[in-house]
Amino acid sequence: MSVPDLPTPAPTSSGGADVGRDIPTPASALAIGAHPDDVEFGCGGTLAKWAADGCVINHLVCTDGSKGTWDPTQDPADLVAARQIEQRQAARALGSRGEVVFLGWPDGELDSSLRQRWQVSYWIRKLRPTVVLGHDPWKRYRLHPDHRHAGLLAVEGIVSARDPLFFPEQEVDHHRPEALLLWEADEPDHVEDVTDHVDAKLTALRAHVSQFRSTMGVDPEDPAAEEQWGIFADRIRDRLADWGALGGCAHGEGFKMMRV
Ligand SMILES: [Zn+2]
Repeated sequence: MSVPDLPTPAPTSSGGADVGRDIPTPASALAIGAHPDDVEFGCGGTLAKWAADGCVINHLVCTDGSKGTWDPTQDPADLVAARQIEQRQAARALGSRGEVVFLGWPDGELDSSLRQRWQVSYWIRKLRPTVVLGHDPWKRYRLHPDHRHAGLLAVEGIVSARDPLFFPEQEVDHHRPEALLLWEADEPDHVEDVTDHVDAKLTALRAHVSQFRSTMGVDPEDPAAEEQWGIFADRIRDRLADWGALGGCAHGEGFKMMRV
């Protein structure tokens, strides 16, 4: 399933004294999510901000999203196709000019073994991002295994991508990104100011139509659908305001930052 870990816990500290803010806009970024929509939830505002400043945004989606529904009659193949279209629309809504890559592992069955790490390493080398973003695999009490594994793949994929003797059969030059930003951070220490990009994040989230019912609490056939969307959007804004309070801005997205 693609239901994100929402509501994510409020930041555990305040004042922003030891919280970093706003790295320089990278030349390119690669966001690695478990399912279609995870990237938009985790770092959509940050990606929209960077894209508006010239950054090439790339998506890597590890699973096919084939279990992201509460409808037992849903055809999984149709859902996979719909979610790929939605993910591409969401990327465009963020201003992405880069790639949207689907690894296609079955939803709910993602592993972080050598095989998946090989794939992630390949795409880091191929796309050569300045910054990689992903799920925090060490977030405590997380239920969804795909999010944990996708996070591990971002971390461990970087190690394989940056050192030249890993996977020489890939025949792509090794590549060391400068930083890794982990969303859903267990110990957040960095906030990106997304005050001017909240609407872009919401527009991108709204592209994930197949997730309206299960994730966003919106029933498109209900006359109150627009009101339901408004409730969801307010929830996102509130969450971004919480992060903003941590980082000293109106709306933010929080991360654990690791220098690579
Ligand atoms: Zn997910």
